[in-house]
Amino acid sequence: MRKKERTIIEDILITDAGSEGMAVGHWGEKVVFLRNAVPGDVVDILLTRQKKSFCEGRLLKVKSYSDKRTTPICEHFGVCGGCKWQNMLYEHQLFFKQKVVKDNLERIGKVEIMEWLPILPCPEIFHYRNKMEYSFSNVRYLTKEDMETPDEKKNMNALGFHVSPSFYRVLDLEHCYLPPELSDRIRMCVREYALANKLEYYDMRSHEGYLRNLFVRSSSMGHWMVNMVFAYDDKTSRDAMLSHIANAFPEITSLMYVINEKKNDVISDLPVELFKGDPYIVEELEGIKFKIGPVSFFQTNSTQVLALYRLVREFAEIKSTDVVYDLYTGTGTIANFIAKDADRVVGVEYVKAAVDDAIENSQMNGITNTVFYDGDMAKVLTPEFVRQNGKPSVIITDPPRAGMHPDVVDQIIRMGAERIVYVSCNSATQARDAALLKENYTIAKVRAVDMFPHTQHVESVMLLIKK
Ligand code: SAH
Repeated sequence: MRKKERTIIEDILITDAGSEGMAVGHWGEKVVFLRNAVPGDVVDILLTRQKKSFCEGRLLKVKSYSDKRTTPICEHFGVCGGCKWQNMLYEHQLFFKQKVVKDNLERIGKVEIMEWLPILPCPEIFHYRNKMEYSFSNVRYLTKEDMETPDEKKNMNALGFHVSPSFYRVLDLEHCYLPPELSDRIRMCVREYALANKLEYYDMRSHEGYLRNLFVRSSSMGHWMVNMVFAYDDKTSRDAMLSHIANAFPEITSLMYVINEKKNDVISDLPVELFKGDPYIVEELEGIKFKIGPVSFFQTNSTQVLALYRLVREFAEIKSTDVVYDLYTGTGTIANFIAKDADRVVGVEYVKAAVDDAIENSQMNGITNTVFYDGDMAKVLTPEFVRQNGKPSVIITDPPRAGMHPDVVDQIIRMGAERIVYVSCNSATQARDAALLKENYTIAKVRAVDMFPHTQHVESVMLLIKK
């Protein structure tokens, strides 16, 4: 068989860092995408995929290093895939995040923006994540060096993150700099306990083994939730392990477990059993408390979420006579945050459990002017719904990555609110939706918000004013 030809392209200048965290260069007419390079680098690339207008490749050698580079602090950089931009200075990460939003809105969506506000940086660029999900696997991801060291191949257990491209391969994490440092210590303690007690790690192919997942969440109030997921019930061993964790970490305020006998990792359809402490942790924003249960949604950066919601409130300019619709309300966080400024807030969300949390969050804070509905947005937002709940003067919308269904955009246009604040975690779909709204609405302001330093993710907050 003929050996596949290797195409190496040399001396390519990296000019951009795009969405999906890819570095971008040009090879003749074609755009080249690759990982781990930084704009300003000059590199040699091994091509791995060639298409008509673009190709993909692997970084072979950096010929000249960009002055936008910095040394990643994490030893797992380049393998883990979580922090694709940790090798880029933070000020430049911000620049390219803003550029992604700008390119999507102006170039792709072709929408005219009256005012761009500078991207809002995150005050803490490490240890900002309040939620971590670690997996146990008996197939450890081996680096090239591991494979050359016979001893390294003996212990194949790993507790950490899935590493692409194979789902069952897990990186055995030593450090992760995204959550507070206690999250690392808890994971390491669990790992040492499992080793000392010869507990079996899960095998994702044969579905055998005992330890499956470890979830760690925290709040800015200093509350800590640890949730251990076991593949089957073994009371003696489970009690021993959870007692060990509880004794080692008095900081844990909610210690819980789940028995997951299913083939998939989803736990939201399973009972969560409380071992010690409270069934939830509490987050607080401007004195408003939010209960966070083991499967509740809450934005993952507790500090920056406050900046995001304050920006939403600033854009919304809510008056005491306003009826506000908070679409895709999740656990009603924005709705409850702005309730005191409005006459009434109507939240809509399709996860029933989240709506229950939203109602409870209002009750817990003595907020009486909110109402929440569960259901699919395109079906819930009918003229009848608007008659019942009142025509909104302000709409806040925070859809998932896919953006809004065209029927939802239509209904929004028909409702004719004066102001719309559109919060998006994917400016490409926000651009598509804004293009549909631009006949009826002026896009007054846009501000990107960085909630996730070192990753390519960026929030985009847009204010639309009725023409
Ligand atoms: N605004 C919230 C959560 C936003 S996440 C906050 O800041 O915390 C987006 C939410 O949209 C999720 O809770 C998701 O369950 C909900 N969602 C996704 N598709 C939906 C649909 N078709 N109809 C209603 N809600 C939907």
